[in-house]
Amino acid sequence: MNSFSADIVVIGAGIIGAASAWRLAERGLKVVVVEQGSPASGSTGKSAAGVRHQFATETNILLAQHSIAEYAAMPESGYRPEGYLMLVPQQSWEKHQRGVQAQHRLGVPTETLTPEQAQKYAEFRPEGLGGCTFCASDGFVDPHGLTMEYVRRARAAGVVFRLDTVVTDIEREKNLWKVTTPNGNLEAPLLLNAAGAWASQVGALAGLDIPVQPARRMVFTTGPLEPRRRLPMIFDLESGVWMRSEGDRVIIGRADASDIGWREGMDWDWLEPTLVAAMERFPWLETASLDRRASWWGHYEVTPDHQAIIGATPGAEGWINACGFSGHGIMQAAAVARIVVQEAMGEKPFIDISSLRYERFGHSNGDTIDLQV
Ligand SMILES: Cc1cc2nc3c(=O)[nH]c(=O)nc-3n(C[C@H](O)[C@H](O)[C@H](O)COP(=O)(O)OP(=O)(O)OC[C@H]3O[C@@H](n4cnc5c(N)ncnc54)[C@H](O)[C@@H]3O)c2cc1C
Repeated sequence: MNSFSADIVVIGAGIIGAASAWRLAERGLKVVVVEQGSPASGSTGKSAAGVRHQFATETNILLAQHSIAEYAAMPESGYRPEGYLMLVPQQSWEKHQRGVQAQHRLGVPTETLTPEQAQKYAEFRPEGLGGCTFCASDGFVDPHGLTMEYVRRARAAGVVFRLDTVVTDIEREKNLWKVTTPNGNLEAPLLLNAAGAWASQVGALAGLDIPVQPARRMVFTTGPLEPRRRLPMIFDLESGVWMRSEGDRVIIGRADASDIGWREGMDWDWLEPTLVAAMERFPWLETASLDRRASWWGHYEVTPDHQAIIGATPGAEGWINACGFSGHGIMQAAAVARIVVQEAMGEKPFIDISSLRYERFGHSNGDTIDLQV
């Protein structure tokens, strides 16, 4: 069977693969994208669609800042700057404020509020909180619409998409990545692993150890609320509960740290601990009903330190990772796509990504280095 030759094979047409493909083609590279389903059919289409600047490390703040700026200029993104409100426990308030200082240094307009002042955004019980922060330019986008716009731009720039095509084998031969699929083979000197929660499996096809695991996340949707509430994205950093408005409803989530692996479907046993924690902070939720059919689940793509893996891979020439976003892929995609191109061209990334490079796993102790929500 003849091989299709390109400059780079991109595996995955989620938001990361689609945005990267467009940026790569814009710089004149011949790009082929292989996707086992359809664009945005992985985690991208399951996300809660939040975008926030409120990170603790400069790298993450910058990735979000540049991405949100790009989305704000794209009508197709559906960007709605409705804000993120963080409810911060007393014990982590001091540390949280160091993150706010980093945000301010980079020009992010995060406000610090007392729990009483923050009641203007939502009613909640203030017990145990040291304070709150709110950033008005955080908000929501339409991840599916964004991905489809990146696919459209990529196609217009000459990118070839092989959809419904699974990559089954990868080998390095004579400076080329040879990629096997049931619909024909592909070869290129460069390969982008943008396979989301499957990034470890894709790495394993080439004998590489890419430390990304799938982790199921549930999103519980209420029925229409009476009275209707307009809520920003709210994170209760004490209980891990998050919620936001979705039309006249509220969507609610909370990570179950033990839910690791390829588990599928709704885990309704996780509903009760989520709602108990949520109602403790937001007692008005007691009158809300649950819409089971409007609730959904998807997979996060988690790494040992819950931070993305971006950039070249030591010992695997031409293999670039952009995966393991651990729940931040939508809010970082646009900037990551630009960095992928710089890695591919051998240029210096416009944001310092040294803390997100693969090499860190040789030194990291697995500690959390940024907000984990
Ligand atoms: C419930 C939930 C809520 C979330 N909320 C947010 C949020 O509010 N904000 C935010 O920024 N992020 C959020 N996320 C995370 C976000 O969805 C991901 O970080 C992001 O979608 C990652 O994009 P991606 O392109 O890397 O992965 P994906 O969208 O998963 O794309 C990877 C693609 O690779 C394809 N693929 C895999 N293996 C192969 C193969 N062998 N051959 C061919 N194709 C292959 C898959 O089919 C898939 O389409 C959430 C995730 C979930 C599940």
